[in-house]
Amino acid sequence: MSTEHALSLLAATISLIVDRPWILLPVAVVVLVCSVLDSPAGGACPSRDSRRAFTAAERREAFERAGLQCEHKSILWRRCTNTPTQGDHIYPWSKGGRTAMSNQQTLCPFHNSRKSGSVPTRMYILRLQQRRRRYFPDDTSPLVEWRPGAAP
Ligand SMILES: [Zn+2]
Repeated sequence: MSTEHALSLLAATISLIVDRPWILLPVAVVVLVCSVLDSPAGGACPSRDSRRAFTAAERREAFERAGLQCEHKSILWRRCTNTPTQGDHIYPWSKGGRTAMSNQQTLCPFHNSRKSGSVPTRMYILRLQQRRRRYFPDDTSPLVEWRPGAAP
């Protein structure tokens, strides 16, 4: 593509946008939806749960409901097949997440160290809940509740 052709294409695009600005509406909707889904879940919570760690029994229950498999899944890859050894606060305890089964996921050491204390995005939580419907026992809620009444 020559420079002259590129400039004329740019001028035509600008002219189109100036004449019909509503043409950008779908782009604005997509940007808005993506920014909401990719933003951190929940808001700032200054109080911390008085209990820091999950008990051995809670970790064991979490491992079993996850099928003894790490719950991490990259966007474009399948679920991690490593054996979980750690119960992770989905919403970090240090940022107000509860030490409760509804806020626990099982991770392998690699994925737990990668996640560290980062706050998951709404998209991360929605995808986790969706995956859990496939492997959680029928009588166990797949929903993440990082503090009482908190929706992702
Ligand atoms: Zn893993």
